[in-house]
Amino acid sequence: MKYALVTGGSRGLGRAISVKLAQMGYHIIINYVNRTDAAEETLALVREAGQDGEMLKFDVSDREQTRAALAAWQEAHPEEYIEVLVNNAGIRRDNLMVFMPDEDWNRVIDITVNGFFNVTQPLLQPMLRKKFGRIINMSSLSGVKGLPGQTNYSASKGAIIAATKALAQEVARKNVTVNAIAPGFIKTDMVEGLDEEALKKTIPANRFGRPDEVAELVGFLASPNTSYITGNVISINGGLYT
Ligand code: NAD
Repeated sequence: MKYALVTGGSRGLGRAISVKLAQMGYHIIINYVNRTDAAEETLALVREAGQDGEMLKFDVSDREQTRAALAAWQEAHPEEYIEVLVNNAGIRRDNLMVFMPDEDWNRVIDITVNGFFNVTQPLLQPMLRKKFGRIINMSSLSGVKGLPGQTNYSASKGAIIAATKALAQEVARKNVTVNAIAPGFIKTDMVEGLDEEALKKTIPANRFGRPDEVAELVGFLASPNTSYITGNVISINGGLYT
């Protein structure tokens, strides 16, 4: 059995990624925080795709909770390891910096940057020991270009790119690849409330992207055939920014 963990796997991109990795033969560990109903729906879709999966509840920003959940999983599967990790959990709390409350700065950094560390660190050792691993980090156009109204989000997604490049160099010899994906506007709950009609005029492809299009890229990077691609940031944005 090959295992893949998708953080924030219950909805949006995480759901599409879970289904894609299931189609590739992975048993999917769907991480979620509150939305049990949504995580159950993802699990049902994973099963429809012909694989099994399980739900694993933890808040990625809570180090103790995350470590306890991952340690419990490992204890229950002493002979197995998680070979694909998709650090997908994320939130945005947009505001001009001049008006930004402390808690909005902290929460975004906590989930994206500390969450990346909290989840990735305990899973690294087994990947290195088994000499195979795929780590895929969800960054954003905001982390590549910087977007006004998102200094917290841009800072967190930019940090993820730098961490991706650094970690990739640490683990490349052991056949563990680390890459980041930088989506533009993709139709999920996260872009609710944005003016799609106005924004799509700024996108050369003249539309928002779909979650399955991002999932396809995750599948590509997760494949054993892409061993020589590491430390990269791949944009998927309809030509919005290159
Ligand atoms: P979404 O809001 O539908 O999903 C976010 C997921 O993260 C949810 O499942 C949520 O439960 C989970 N999550 C949030 N806080 C968490 C925590 N503390 N612990 C565990 N899980 C947590 O949005 P989405 O568009 O599917 O976003 C997925 C990722 O893609 C995010 O990292 C987001 O920043 C990134 N992204 C999205 C877009 C876009 O246009 N949709 C663009 C660029 C980057």
